[in-house]
Amino acid sequence: MDKRANSKLSLQTRLAQALRFLDAETGSVVPAIQPTATYARDENYNVRKPYWYRRDGNQTTSHAEALISELELAEETFLFSSGMSAATAVIDHLPAGAHVVVPKVMYHGVLAQFQRYEAFQRLRISYYNAGDLKGMAKAVEINKTCLVWVETPNNPDWKVTDIRAASKIAHNSGALLLTDCTGTPPCMTQALELGADISFHSATKYLNGHSDVSAGALSVRQTGKYWEEIFNIRKLQGTVLNSFDAWLLIRGLRTLFLRVEKASSNAMVIASHFEKNDAIEVVLYPGLESHPDHEIAKIQTNSQFGGMMSLIVKGTEQTAIDVAKFCKVFYAATSLGGVESLIEHRKTVSGDDFPVHPCLLRLSIGIEDVDDLIIDLEQAISRATKKISNTLEN
Ligand code: PLP
Repeated sequence: MDKRANSKLSLQTRLAQALRFLDAETGSVVPAIQPTATYARDENYNVRKPYWYRRDGNQTTSHAEALISELELAEETFLFSSGMSAATAVIDHLPAGAHVVVPKVMYHGVLAQFQRYEAFQRLRISYYNAGDLKGMAKAVEINKTCLVWVETPNNPDWKVTDIRAASKIAHNSGALLLTDCTGTPPCMTQALELGADISFHSATKYLNGHSDVSAGALSVRQTGKYWEEIFNIRKLQGTVLNSFDAWLLIRGLRTLFLRVEKASSNAMVIASHFEKNDAIEVVLYPGLESHPDHEIAKIQTNSQFGGMMSLIVKGTEQTAIDVAKFCKVFYAATSLGGVESLIEHRKTVSGDDFPVHPCLLRLSIGIEDVDDLIIDLEQAISRATKKISNTLEN
């Protein structure tokens, strides 16, 4: 890997070639997996840098981190064994009693983790509505707030938050801004360039893209003391990404641009098509001109918008569950960002306490033939809605 020799090549080229990987000994263009858990000391009994034990990281994990740093224009990236362990490391590094500002609706697991820490009085939380900058500005406490968490687009409503404006609010109050742009990976949204201090991704999703890895990434514009502390937490908790998953992640990252382009174009066709369907109350997709955050999404996602959307189905909660159940091409499964399309009744997954519309179906659009996806959803919607009209007639 020679980063400098490649710095004039485009990001797409560098990513496709895994930073021009070439094994000097064999000529292999694919890196081998480095699985060792420990490293022998040298003949003078000194530790061979930079690794001496698996929890520090290793060559394969560092290679995947270097690829993500390129994508994010980051000084450094750390990979964790899941998005949740990366998010938890950030929460954990905050000082006792820290004040944080988070959206009311966001990925439910991260929200639950913040609330657990609050429950045992490790931190204090103030909330804002996702996308609402005025609400965010009201929620921050000058020189007291340590962290502003932005999830954009937010899950599962796909509201978009202006990262540049959010960074001003966070920085004016002396807080760090963290962005979770899992739904729009850095080939679309380079959050650090827009002012985020930490860019978080569940790499389980688009970055890997094949639904066969669990991983989380944190990337920073500038390393510093807090970053050392996050590294320390990863090391002490043993949550570094394992070599096999890191290797799969490198494989997945090489096709990121292609996958995201196809998923985004499929999603746009599907969103436009179902916006006109009488059985659908609303399609939540920032790519639609009717979406309230369309203009900021256009700027922030390089006019691609991504593959994530939600449909609110007319009828009852059961109608929405039936649509998911009747799909034959979409998999009725959780997660997102893979090559295969998924559909999920979100309330079933996030639970009764989470504020989500009972008829909301979350769709992760993959790279299949878009006509197959449309036909599948249409048959599922028509079967599910026929079921209601039959019930009304009986
Ligand atoms: N953030 C977002 C937006 C997510 O969608 C998810 C998982 O669905 C996570 C964080 C957590 O990531 P992981 O499942 O890799 O732990």
